[in-house]
Amino acid sequence: MQIHKHDAIIIGAGGAGLMAALYASKGGADVAVVSKLYPTRSHTGTAQGGIGAALGNLDEDKPIYHTYDTVKGGDYLADQHAAKILAENAVEAVIELEHMGLPFDRTSEKRISQRRFGGHTRNFGEELVRRACHAADRTGHMILQTLYQQCIKNEVNFFDEFQVVDLIVVDGVVAGVVAIELGTGEFHIFHGKACFFASGGWGRCWSVTSNAHSLTGDGAAIALRRGLPLQDMEFFQFHPTGIYRMGILITEGVRGEGGVLINSVGERFMERYAPSAKDLASRDVVSRAIYLETRAGRSIKNRGYVHLDVRPQTVNRYFAEEGRDRKDFIDESMVERKLPDILDFCRTYLGVDPVKEPMPVQPTAHYAMGGIPTNIDAEVLIDAEGTVMLGAYAAGETACVSVHGANRLGTNSLVDLVVFGRRGGMKMAEYVKGAAWAPLPKDAGAEIEAEFERIRQGAGKSRPGELRHLMQATMMDNVGVFRTEETLRQGINDLAELRERFYKDLHIDDKSRVFNTDLMEAWELGCLLDLADVTARTALERKESRGAHSREDFKKRDDENWLAHSLIYQEGALSDPSYVAHFDKKVDLSLWEAEIAAGLPVDQQKFKPKERVY
Ligand SMILES: Cc1cc2nc3c(=O)[nH]c(=O)nc-3n(C[C@H](O)[C@H](O)[C@H](O)COP(=O)(O)OP(=O)(O)OC[C@H]3O[C@@H](n4cnc5c(N)ncnc54)[C@H](O)[C@@H]3O)c2cc1C
Repeated sequence: MQIHKHDAIIIGAGGAGLMAALYASKGGADVAVVSKLYPTRSHTGTAQGGIGAALGNLDEDKPIYHTYDTVKGGDYLADQHAAKILAENAVEAVIELEHMGLPFDRTSEKRISQRRFGGHTRNFGEELVRRACHAADRTGHMILQTLYQQCIKNEVNFFDEFQVVDLIVVDGVVAGVVAIELGTGEFHIFHGKACFFASGGWGRCWSVTSNAHSLTGDGAAIALRRGLPLQDMEFFQFHPTGIYRMGILITEGVRGEGGVLINSVGERFMERYAPSAKDLASRDVVSRAIYLETRAGRSIKNRGYVHLDVRPQTVNRYFAEEGRDRKDFIDESMVERKLPDILDFCRTYLGVDPVKEPMPVQPTAHYAMGGIPTNIDAEVLIDAEGTVMLGAYAAGETACVSVHGANRLGTNSLVDLVVFGRRGGMKMAEYVKGAAWAPLPKDAGAEIEAEFERIRQGAGKSRPGELRHLMQATMMDNVGVFRTEETLRQGINDLAELRERFYKDLHIDDKSRVFNTDLMEAWELGCLLDLADVTARTALERKESRGAHSREDFKKRDDENWLAHSLIYQEGALSDPSYVAHFDKKVDLSLWEAEIAAGLPVDQQKFKPKERVY
């Protein structure tokens, strides 16, 4: 196997990976970014709505309000100190992106323009605030292009279309990764002092998802297989507005601009579920409402979808009812200008023109709140006490800091990437300066090479595509927006059966080496099966409802027993693993504790977990 040697190996070239690469290289490290996609094809590039920062360009705003919204939106499972860092660092991160050349939309005073987004408020929940900075509905695309240019300028080494398939650990310290060069099928070893997981999410566990085909959770699965825990895996966000059946995302920015959700009897039903935030209530609330409307027989044509209406006449009618200023009213040209990509998707894929007709939408699997546990410097943790694994870092969707708690607010993922990507990059540069090279084990890569041979030789009857389809269907039905013990057990049993077929009865058509997508997709399916399994298992054990985890048999949030993070570990053989889940990692409640210490009476404590009706 060819061996490459670099101080810092970064797995993934999305927003988190590029930010980490930029800062590690600025800190003097020799950096290699290994990515299965060409960098600017990473999913970050599809992020539409915006990046949240309390710039206060249009409304009065402060980082502490952003912190409060993040903690509350996360249903009090977010670590409060980390949420504060997120909100505070967001301001300088956005300004830094601007200085790097990111073409944000502007206000008439030429400042960065901001829009409303669900759950983002002023003065601790008083009213919605314009906080999401945007470049039309292509914010992520602009972030990715900007960061990639900066990395090239900083001479970061890129290994594009190299897929990482294993982590090399020597005596508990990271020593590198094993990757396959997709163009040749050859195995390579990247020998490093530190490795940074920035490999994104795993929405492809579900059948209706906003996530690209590549989002198969490889990094998280590799970490799990190499003995690292995954944190808070039971929390997976369904975004309320995916295009019906296709799952393609319609940004919350549409509702931020005034769009409303309408059921089959023409009612703006969110007025009933969330009288003040209405259509901009947090995503878990809106997704549940759409399911409940469907159950009550009020989805359009009884097919499980509702309408998202951003036609100016509808929006302006509701604006008038709410007594909004006439200058807020919208017209067709504004919709065209602010949401060009959304209009394009709907016109192309649906034949629906959103300025003339409403869009058919349903909840779509969107975002992993859980992932590889880290501290606020992106160092990977191996236990509930916060012990760090030397040389291991993670940030972005694959990581769990945790700033999003049980439910992420819109625009906070892009903030997470740049804030914790940067912190991690700096920390890693500092670490590699002092760290010694761990020697590579003689048989590095042998185990995973053998596993790939097993998959390639597969001559059974089960094709990966069929197994993936069955996994996605059971996850959608049994481990989706609403869960019960019965559905979760069903999901776990189905997954066990699929795993059995994956390891004992797999069939691969393509036996070649060059760009063998059949082989790579089969391996990715193995990753998805592991992540689906840990999601269902932690969801079964968490006997309460919180954020995106909604148990119909345990409808209340139960802070007394469950205000804690989960950590799940995988042991045993890949084909027949066993799992151990703990729920003893403490949630950081430092802001609430500071309020208590300052003698604030209970009714003035902003960061105290508040009662919530589900
Ligand atoms: C349609 C859509 C719209 C969104 N809109 C917003 C928004 O407006 N605001 C917001 O805050 N958030 C939004 N999000 C969420 C946000 O975009 C993502 O959570 C975030 O971009 C993830 O970034 P990342 O850097 O962690 O990973 P990604 O951008 O997903 O990148 C993952 C990288 O890892 C690489 N990789 C994966 N596996 C391997 C492997 N085995 N070997 C090598 N490389 C690997 C890939 O090549 C890729 O470069 C949106 C998400 C979607 C899907």
